[in-house]
Parts: sequence; structure tokens; C-alpha cells
Amino acid sequence: MASQQNPLDEEENSKRNWSLKDFEIGKPLGRGKFGRVYVAREIKNKYVVALKVIFKEQIEKYKIHHQLRREMEIQSNLHHPNILRLYGWFHDADRVFLILEYAHNGELYKELRKKGYLSEKQAATYILSLTKALAYCHEKTVIHRDIKPENLLLDHQGRLKIADFGWSVQSSSKRRTMCGTLDYLAPEMVENKAHDYAVDNWTLGILCYEFLYGVPPFEAESQIDTFRRIRNVDLSFPSTPSISSDAKNLISRLLVKDSSRRLSLEKIIEHPWIIKNANPMGICL
Ligand code: AMP
Repeated sequence: MASQQNPLDEEENSKRNWSLKDFEIGKPLGRGKFGRVYVAREIKNKYVVALKVIFKEQIEKYKIHHQLRREMEIQSNLHHPNILRLYGWFHDADRVFLILEYAHNGELYKELRKKGYLSEKQAATYILSLTKALAYCHEKTVIHRDIKPENLLLDHQGRLKIADFGWSVQSSSKRRTMCGTLDYLAPEMVENKAHDYAVDNWTLGILCYEFLYGVPPFEAESQIDTFRRIRNVDLSFPSTPSISSDAKNLISRLLVKDSSRRLSLEKIIEHPWIIKNANPMGICL
């Protein structure tokens, strides 16, 4: 299937000096730590985008200027159907604006919370999409390190898009150590050891479990207990919902303490559970 024609990807637009006058601003889509996100229409091409507004005051306050700039450059160079596009950015006296691909169906997390848990077909489709996006990133020597459901959005066809590509790493890692969740972190990260690409493979195991059971596998009352469960890989599969042994096999082969023994991204794509259940087009309505 040909990808959707996107006028903002054209050479002349990617180098354009954008300003707020180029957009009609629509309804707010949500708010994050650093600002707000609105749906917007680029006036010349009538192309719908999401405009993320970040207040310079916040950038100063959290000292994320260099990080933001570097990571925006990374994200704008990633072109993959399962990675949210960053088409460009501009700023005025008080704000920085990011022109982002619009994900019409919003956060995957909301869908998961609404349904409780996903079907094996839907879960496998998302895991395949994520695996392909991560393989593309790893090829470009980019490690995401911060994949979690709130960073996953869905487009109008239900296709998964990794959002906040890395540029929120600094803020989220801070949040994690102070009051956030450890649930998605690999043992080598919670133990503060050196880590590599295999942290993303671990996270795929966590997400696969959470898609199928509705809760992450090492959830606990306190952070100390979650920490202990991750370190011991204290993994168990509840009897409900009833999940296929193929799915459990994939999860068990990703949630492996020794990072060099985790299933590779290539092997995930060939895994029988993925072959049997995933829609290779990534569409999930
Ligand atoms: P963030 O500041 O990235 O955490 O975004 C805040 C909220 O805005 C998210 O939780 C989403 O619900 C929504 N949002 C952010 N980016 C997009 C986008 N590209 N398309 C649609 N909704 C978005």
C-alpha cells in the first residue's frame, strides 16, 4: 500500500521558515509537562497536524535546551511508518512550537484502560509495529530507552506511532527516580549498570505482557517491591485472561535478566505468535 501523500514532507516545506500564521489552531488534544498540544491545519496545504507548544520558561526551568534541540534533530530525521513524524519547528518570544504528525486515535494507553486488555491479534500487531520501528532505530544507532504506553499513539487507522522520541528522556528519567514508575525498566537500568540496545527488547516483553493482561508484570505496592521483582525476574502468568502458550513463550524469551540472551528483534518478527496473530500492515481498527 502506498503511504499517504504528505505535503509537509516535501523539500520546500521541510526547509521552510514556519510561523504561527501558517496554521489554523483547533481543539486542544492534551497537555504534558512542558506545554499543550493542539490539532492544527497548515493553511497552504490544508494538512492536519498536531502542534505542540512548549513554554520557553519551562525549558529554562528544567534546563532542557540542549537536550531538546539534539533530540528534535534526531526525531526529524527518523522516517518510519511507526514513528511519529516531526515535520519542523519554530518559535516566538515565549514559546517553541513542534509540528508533529497528528495521531487521530490518541493514546494507546487510553484504549488499553478502556478495554482492560487487548486481543492477541491486536497485541501482536502492536508488538510487530514496535519491533519494526525499533529495528529501524537500532540500525540508525538510536536507542529509545523510554518506551512506555503513554508514549505510544494511534493514527486514524489504528497504526501504532512511537511519540516523544527520546527528547523527553531527561524529564522522564528524572520523574522515574523521584516519583514515577519503574515498571518498564530493564534490570540493568534499575541496577544502574551499563546498558545497550537490549533494554528496548526487555521493554517489548513488558508491553506484550501488559497488552495481554492489562497490567505490567512486575507491578507492586511499592517501588522497592517492583525493583526487587524486576531484579529477580519474578514473572508469573495469571490464569485469566487465558493466553496462548505462544504468547507466553515470546514474553518469557524477552524478560531474560542476561541482556545478551534476550530474543533479538529479527527473531521477534519471526516468532510463531507474531506470524499467527499480527497484521503485517500494522492496521488495527
Ligand atoms: P505530551 O506533551 O507529548 O505528553 O502530550 C500531551 C497529550 O497530547 C498526549 O497525552 C496526547 O493525548 C496528546 N498528543 C500529543 N501529541 C499528539 C499527536 N501528535 N497527535 C494526537 N495527540 C497528541
